[in-house]
Amino acid sequence: MIGMLRVFILGLAWVAGALLAMTAPARAAPIEPVECRIVTGAAASLDEAMALSPRSCGGSVARRVRGTVWLDYRDLPELAGQAEPWRMMIDNHRVGSVDLYMIRADGSRSHVAYDPTARDRDWTPGNYLSLPIAMTDQAPVTRMMVRLGDSEFVTRVRATRIAPESVAAAQDLKGGALFGMAVGVLGVTILFHLLLFFAIKRRFQLLYCAHVTMLFLYGFSYSSLILIPFPELTATGLSRLLSGSMAIATVTALAFISDFIEGDALPNWLRNWAKLAAATSLVTGALLFAAPLAWTGPIYSLGYFAAFHALGVISAMLISGVIRGSRTARVLGLAWSLPVLTALLYPLRGTGLISDTMIPDGAMVFALTFECLVLSLPVANRIKALRIDHERARERQSVLERQAQTDVLTGLSNRRGFVAAIDHSFTAPGPNQAALMMIDIDHFKQINDRYGHGRGDSILQRVADHVARYGGEEFVVAIRGYDAKRAATLAERIRIGIENLPCDLQPPSPLTVSIGVACGTTDAIDQLLAEADEALYAAKGNGRNCIILANGGGSRSAPARAASAA
Ligand code: GH3
Ligand code: MG
Ligand code: MG
Repeated sequence: MIGMLRVFILGLAWVAGALLAMTAPARAAPIEPVECRIVTGAAASLDEAMALSPRSCGGSVARRVRGTVWLDYRDLPELAGQAEPWRMMIDNHRVGSVDLYMIRADGSRSHVAYDPTARDRDWTPGNYLSLPIAMTDQAPVTRMMVRLGDSEFVTRVRATRIAPESVAAAQDLKGGALFGMAVGVLGVTILFHLLLFFAIKRRFQLLYCAHVTMLFLYGFSYSSLILIPFPELTATGLSRLLSGSMAIATVTALAFISDFIEGDALPNWLRNWAKLAAATSLVTGALLFAAPLAWTGPIYSLGYFAAFHALGVISAMLISGVIRGSRTARVLGLAWSLPVLTALLYPLRGTGLISDTMIPDGAMVFALTFECLVLSLPVANRIKALRIDHERARERQSVLERQAQTDVLTGLSNRRGFVAAIDHSFTAPGPNQAALMMIDIDHFKQINDRYGHGRGDSILQRVADHVARYGGEEFVVAIRGYDAKRAATLAERIRIGIENLPCDLQPPSPLTVSIGVACGTTDAIDQLLAEADEALYAAKGNGRNCIILANGGGSRSAPARAASAA
């Protein structure tokens, strides 16, 4: 998780650097924005439009405009006598056509038609259409009229920029680099969290990745970087991507918040409301991506409703979470604060309270990058908590496993532990010869009967010092790499060792064991167990306190000492 924090700090420094760079003066002369006057109405021809007085100034229209929109530019920079061509950067809308008319001091006019649905690359970072303006030796351009055709829904137009080609190119480069940084942070975050998802596989990780992917798509389109993989993209296609990705981003935001805030911090009705809002935004997003241009008006109306609805539900969920004491909700609130504030600035521009230049291009892209980075903190914390839980569960499980394989009385492996240990060690590389001893205490029942179970228990504990417990008073020893002879020698030593255990039973009673020994290979453990058991049985029949080698092992050893406690 330290790594996660580092990534976050690095990303934050990156964004801070980008914001600083944005405020630094460009190498090339800055482009002065030119405010247009929007002429609305049914003006069909250029002359009619020029004769109409503008409905509203300052780049915004009070109400929505359908069909044709005329933009009227009067306070133009000196465009005459320029050696190099100039460019005019116009706000990119979902429009069918763009016509640029230049009116010169001598009354002459020229016209450039531009098709935003055509596959060319005349657009620029920040979602501007970039139109070339031919310079001639003619009289200075005094007025420019721009006709946006088939624009179903234009609420406002950002200030248009007019600049020489080289200045415009330098500005493009700067814009591309700045947005590239933000988009880079978003892209790295997606990759990083996808990798984490494959390790931990929780739904909130996937929802977070889906959300950041939508932010990435928005930034990738807004920066024009999308032209690198998709050079065929049209300006209209770009508009679709921008509005569509924002709508789907609200869907993923709703899903993420509803999934991520702790269960009891969100009432069920709020979660259900979030589902409804997400469904509305999903439909809107799909329409914004794919519907024909002619539907733009109604779709935008639906889009505004869906966006404000979603924003309301998101706020309600975060407020509910904070009221119910969820720390997560507070951090999520911080993450969304900047994009929401930025989003609120845009409608304020229309009121004239905020000027166009007060909101830098791409403010939203950087606000979204901030959101993505702040969100990565609680996501990282959740992953950390899951990992700690996982480790605790594993510890608990291994304690239980150890308990299940251990005999409580003697502390030795029980039969389950023995089988597991044999499975483990006999399958490891090594000699395949193995010997197995089955050891059973002789006349143990009598010891219990005579001295009590407590005494029997303590004897079992003492015998266990030498061997592993297999059953009630039966023990088993498995040795790898031993042939019959060595195994028999070891068994004899065990037998003698137990026989010589200082025995404090009163009246004195012998404590002896019978041992069955089987030899074979490590892969036939079941057979070895059966043979050893059989040999043990034979040892009992042979008078006890002796060892018997199973038939596989060859000769049968003579009883080392006759049982005396029969
Ligand atoms: P043999 O020489 O034929 O083995 O005679 P034995 O009495 O040892 O054999 P048997 O199998 O008849 O009796 C085993 C006894 O072991 C019966 C049971 O009471 C006792 N036993 C099994 N587990 C425990 C235990 O955990 N504690 C005590 N004290 N006794 C146990
Ligand atoms: Mg016994
Ligand atoms: Mg027994």
